Amino acid sequence: TGIYHSINKLSDQHKIPTRPDLDIATYVLSHFPPPHQAESKIALIDSATNQQFTYAWLQRSIRSLAKGLYRTLGVGKGDVVFVLSPNSLLYPTICLAVFSIGAILTTANPLNTKSEIAKQVSDSGAKLAISAPEELHKLVPTGVPTILTSRKPNKDSSSLSIEELIESSDHSYQLPQVKLVQSDTAAILYSSGTTGTSKGVVLTHAHFIADVAFLRWTVDVSSAQNDVFLCFLPIFHIYGLSFFALGLFCVGTTTVVMKKYEFHAMLQAIKTHKVNNIPAVPPVILGLVKYTSKAGFESELSSLRRVTSGAAPLSKVVGDGFRKKFPWVELRQVYGLTEICGAATFSPTHKEAKARSGSSGMLIPSFCAKVVDTVTGKPLPPYREGEVWLKSPSIMKGYLGNVEATAATIDSDGWLKTGDICYFDEDGFLFIVDRVAPAELEAILLSHPSILDAAVIPVENDEAGQIPMAYVVKEIGSELSEDQVIKFVADQVAPYKKLRRVSFTSAIPRSISGKILRKNLVSQSKQQFISK
Ligand code: AMP
Repeated sequence: TGIYHSINKLSDQHKIPTRPDLDIATYVLSHFPPPHQAESKIALIDSATNQQFTYAWLQRSIRSLAKGLYRTLGVGKGDVVFVLSPNSLLYPTICLAVFSIGAILTTANPLNTKSEIAKQVSDSGAKLAISAPEELHKLVPTGVPTILTSRKPNKDSSSLSIEELIESSDHSYQLPQVKLVQSDTAAILYSSGTTGTSKGVVLTHAHFIADVAFLRWTVDVSSAQNDVFLCFLPIFHIYGLSFFALGLFCVGTTTVVMKKYEFHAMLQAIKTHKVNNIPAVPPVILGLVKYTSKAGFESELSSLRRVTSGAAPLSKVVGDGFRKKFPWVELRQVYGLTEICGAATFSPTHKEAKARSGSSGMLIPSFCAKVVDTVTGKPLPPYREGEVWLKSPSIMKGYLGNVEATAATIDSDGWLKTGDICYFDEDGFLFIVDRVAPAELEAILLSHPSILDAAVIPVENDEAGQIPMAYVVKEIGSELSEDQVIKFVADQVAPYKKLRRVSFTSAIPRSISGKILRKNLVSQSKQQFISK
């Protein structure tokens, strides 16, 4: 039939609960360690200050903040709360408090520009914003009521903070029971998807419950209580959110939180806290492969047991290089999308991951997939490349207020079109070949008066894995330079989305249906830059 099914099943211990009135916060809190352990078991450690939160403190802070949001600020069911902050010990508390009162979480990258933030605040219909003090200036122009994640160093009495809300919580006050069902919206996470600009991915409590059930399945629950995880992945993104605000609390691990990724600070944190487990992204793996230490990396990184790579393609060369250098560390891959509320494939065991280096793993339980010919729409057999479509209980409801983009992404049978070009081998291992490049950048390029047509493609880069490059058709006689194009885009997007290379061309190759033939451009770029 051309459909790939997961060969794995969820055991009774990991089954997705079907109780209709379950919400994600209650589900996560019900898996916290029992009270006698929760008082001493450390849930979170701040890598910079060494401040620590126990599971019991975390539970109380979630409750206190929920009361503060509801009673002091009037946030209730269905109200959208916009969070703009780098990682912090309180980030998970904020997410869980918002979920527990039936409010809707929307998060943003602190690197986003003022105009990107204004767009998201308005599109999501945010009622309240929670901002890191240093990002507050980006929210002021939106006019949305804002509280701070922490007190300002030079205490400004006019802005309330989360810390104060938690501390001033009235213990005698009983939060009224909120009626929540699994199909209620829990979060709107913004993603570019494969078409158009940034859109709000609508995810329900049921989607997060399924995602956490999958995550519990991927983690070895029997030994997880002794694990020390390192968190530098941004919690505003689904990868960080699923692990560090939800999933890991269900298996009772300790997490060391870094405000953001920095290579040497990461090494220091691994050493100090004897970190053994790191969810990471390909540039981090590359950094470790290139790392040479006078003291000897064997002793510095001896505590590491498992590193997971996700969010972008990890090349076989880098994966093999890592395994050769760190033979005591399991390297596995995870492949996921915001639109499926987390992961879809995962390397089943270290041995298999090693044997299929370059594979993103196998479908996780309850997922099915097909690989579809991008021209004919027909499902393809193993080893044939096409776009991968996914089906699972965690597929988003749709894009907020965008029926057209939703219909273009989820077909009438419920298949989610990922935009990722992949193939499966005969044993069901997924290999990702390419990603349809961000149409957001193309839309910006096309808004330039001297640009007639444009296409953005990923090009290989040793440091970053992949960087965006644009092919641009300019108006005849236009003086537009490559640097001007790069600057034109850079002025409108966050730094990580910037174009790094521009090449002028006479026409963009397109299929009959108007889809950009990116493959042709990718091979063109290879010839162009290799021959240089
Ligand atoms: P996001 O919604 O920001 O999580 O981005 C999802 C996209 O990241 C996917 O559609 C893929 O293009 C890419 N991605 C995620 N995980 C992997 C992986 N393991 N290998 C290659 N690409 C990945």
